[in-house]
Amino acid sequence: MLAPFTAGWQSTDLHPLVIEKSEGSYVYDINGKKYLDSLAGLWCTALGGNEPRLIDAAVKQLNTLPFYHSFWNRTTKPSLDLAKELLDTFTATKMAKAFFTNSGSEANDTQVKLVWYYNNALGRPEKKKFIARANSYHGSTLISASLSGLPPLHQKFDLPAPFVLHTDCPHYWRYHLPGETEEEFSTRLAKNLENLILKEGPETIAAFIAEPVMGAGGVIPPPATYFEKIQAVMKKYDILFIADEVICAFGRLGTMFGCDKYNIKPDLVSLAKALSSAYMPIGAVLVSPKVADVIYSQSNKLGTFSHGFTYSGHPVSCAVALEAIKIYRERNILDQVNSIAPKFQEGLKAYSDSPIIGEVCLA
Ligand SMILES: *Cc1c(COP(=O)(O)O)cnc(C)c1O
Repeated sequence: MLAPFTAGWQSTDLHPLVIEKSEGSYVYDINGKKYLDSLAGLWCTALGGNEPRLIDAAVKQLNTLPFYHSFWNRTTKPSLDLAKELLDTFTATKMAKAFFTNSGSEANDTQVKLVWYYNNALGRPEKKKFIARANSYHGSTLISASLSGLPPLHQKFDLPAPFVLHTDCPHYWRYHLPGETEEEFSTRLAKNLENLILKEGPETIAAFIAEPVMGAGGVIPPPATYFEKIQAVMKKYDILFIADEVICAFGRLGTMFGCDKYNIKPDLVSLAKALSSAYMPIGAVLVSPKVADVIYSQSNKLGTFSHGFTYSGHPVSCAVALEAIKIYRERNILDQVNSIAPKFQEGLKAYSDSPIIGEVCLA
């Protein structure tokens, strides 16, 4: 087993904790010991460990059509239904198309290909660079690890790829100057970002990618006015905004998507994790009409948009994801989050005076 990348988790211990069974919010190891799974797997088992409806959805689909692909103008009903469901559910701004992957990393790799294809179609072959943020996490394939801003994901892997630039981490508590308010901090970060764009040449910057709340890099909510100011910079230089909603989507922040909470109007969205409550692997990319129309017109000339995976839109994953979204709605998952979160945050505040606690932050 390779130890995960997150700081503090480096380990040479070759005897992993082996988990055997899950029940609600708890998991059990092979010795029967019970643990509260406070991370929900890896921020993904949003409906807990043994939700019979998700299992039934998978079994039903396995009995009907365990697999068919989505290449060459073929697809399956669950994948069509899920695409429609996601486009209806995401309301921060109108989205036109959904593309399925097997993971969040593949979703972000797909974003890079979409954005390059888009700018080539627009006759802007030099507009190809991406800006991401220090401490961000966007996945671990070559491209998504390049977008990520965590040094352990780069070192000795010859990453990041040269087209990726990193700008400031928006962690107010750690990086603000003495006397600087959150708003001033956001203004300074937006200014730094603009300076980076000007230094590189706006005609070379294709897209900016951000998690609404940074997850693996330390659970960092944006400082006040941050996304408003960042989005204004993107708009000014015609740079696409990619919202990496892999952790934030489906209620984690008390809104269906992180974009709803922070008034983000993205051009592209990445989803995974709670999309299926992790019972089956699946990721998705949502594409705005602005980007989809350009890609559509180009692929009309070039032929099929040649990107996809054998398991893109896997019918069993899609059937499970459809059921998960249905359950989030039926059980008012947002109300549940909004009623529990203040109590949880209140409880955490009890630790704020401890000398080893720097910050108890509220999203
Ligand atoms: C987990 C994560 C990813 C990568 O998803 P995988 O399914 O592990 O490839 C991408 N972005 C964010 C924000 C994530 O938390």
